[in-house]
Amino acid sequence: MLNALAKPRPAQAAGALPPDALPPDAPAPAEPPPASRRRATQTFLTHAARSKAFHGFVNPPIYRGSTVLFDSMDDLIHGRAEFTYGRKGNPSTQALESAWTELAGAAGTILCGSGLAAITTALLSVARAGDHLLVVDTVYGPVRALCDGLLERFGVAVTYFPPDPGAAFEQAFRDNTVAVYLESPGSLTMEIQDIPGLARIAHARGACVLMDNTWSTPILFDAHAAGVDISIEAGTKYLGGASDLLLGLASANSAYWPRLLDTHRMLGCIAGPEDVFLALRGFRTLDLRLRESGRRALEIAQWLRSRPEVLAVLHPALEQSPGHGYWKRDYHGASGLFSIILAPVSTQSLAQMLDGFRLFGMGYSWGGFESLVTPIDHDLVRSAKPWPHSGPTLRLYIGLEDVEDLKQDLSDGFSRLTGKY
Ligand SMILES: *Cc1c(COP(=O)(O)O)cnc(C)c1O
Repeated sequence: MLNALAKPRPAQAAGALPPDALPPDAPAPAEPPPASRRRATQTFLTHAARSKAFHGFVNPPIYRGSTVLFDSMDDLIHGRAEFTYGRKGNPSTQALESAWTELAGAAGTILCGSGLAAITTALLSVARAGDHLLVVDTVYGPVRALCDGLLERFGVAVTYFPPDPGAAFEQAFRDNTVAVYLESPGSLTMEIQDIPGLARIAHARGACVLMDNTWSTPILFDAHAAGVDISIEAGTKYLGGASDLLLGLASANSAYWPRLLDTHRMLGCIAGPEDVFLALRGFRTLDLRLRESGRRALEIAQWLRSRPEVLAVLHPALEQSPGHGYWKRDYHGASGLFSIILAPVSTQSLAQMLDGFRLFGMGYSWGGFESLVTPIDHDLVRSAKPWPHSGPTLRLYIGLEDVEDLKQDLSDGFSRLTGKY
C-alpha cells in the first residue's frame, strides 16, 4: 500500500558502534549528516503513505468509524477483511503507522492518544508481576509517577540509575531485571546517554531496551540501529508541530513487535482519527521544522553562553553539556529544546523576568512553531544522584520566530531579572 520511495537511512547493524570505539571527546562526523541521507529522508517524508485507494488525493483522508461492515457471515466469523473494527485501525492510522515504521527502521508502530499512553503500553508489554526494571533517573516526570504508582501496585519493582552510570549499571541488574528504560537527552537536564553501550549490556543480560526518543525523532537519532528494542515518540511535540494535538507512537523491532501490538490491542488506548490526520500533515514537514528549530536553538544557546546572568547552558551540542561526546558520536543533529541554569536570584526577580516576556510563552509541552520558557526546579526529581545545581533552571524551546527578535525578548528579560536597564 505504501510508496516505499527511499529508505530514510542506510541500515546500521545493531551494536555496530561499540561504546568504547571513540572516547567521548573524539571528533566525529555527527553534524551535518551526509547530504544523501538527508535527501532520502526528506523525499521519504514527502511521498510516504500514498495510496491509489485515496483516489489521487495527496494526503490520506480522515477515516472515522467504529463499525466496519462485512460482506458475509463467513467473512465476519473469520475476520476476513483488511479492517474489521475501528479500534483495530483504519486507513488513516495504518498510513501513519506504516510511514513511522519505515522512518524508524522498525517492524511495527502503535499509535496512542498521548505520549504517556504509548510509554505505558510499551512498559506493560514487557513487565509482569515480580519483574524488575532499570529506569534512568532523568526520566520524564510522569513516567516516574507511572513506575512508582501503577507498576509498583502491580508488583513491578523499579531502580533508578544515573544517566551516565559507568560500572554501576551492570551491578544494578538483578536476576529478575527484564527491561531498561532510557531517555536521551534526559528530561529537563539534557544528559545524552551512551545508548549503544547501555543497550549492549542490557542485551547481554537478556533485558529489553526501551527508549524515549522524543527530543531527536528518528531523524536525529536512529534508536533501533543503536540497539533500542522499543522506541517511543511523543508525537504531541515535533510530529504534531503546532501544539494542537496529543499523540504517542511506539515502534518495535521484530523481537518485541508482537507483544507490543498485543498489549495495545488489550488496552485499547488508541489515537483519534483527527489527531492522526494532523500528525500525517506534520510528518511531511518534520525534517524541515526540526532542523530549523534546532538551528535557531543552537544559535541562541551559544549566545546565552556569553550572558553573565547564565551560569550554564545545557545543550547537547555544546561541549560542556553532559554526554556531549555521545551526542557527537551517535546523533545527526540537535533539536530545539535545551535548558539553562541562571546565577542565583530572588523568586521575585525571576517572576519579573518570566512574566514579562512578549514572545516566549510560559507553559508545558514543546515542538510547536512558537517559543516557550518553563521554570523547572519544582519539577526536578532525581533519586539516584542529586542534581548539583541550585540556581534557577529554565527550559527553553525555540520555535520559528526570528532569532534576533527572540534574543531581544531574552535580553529584555535579563534586564528585568537584574534590574539593570
Ligand atoms: C511530552 C513528553 C512526553 C509525553 O507526551 P504526552 O503526549 O504529553 O503524553 C513523553 N516524553 C517526553 C520526553 C516528552 O517531552
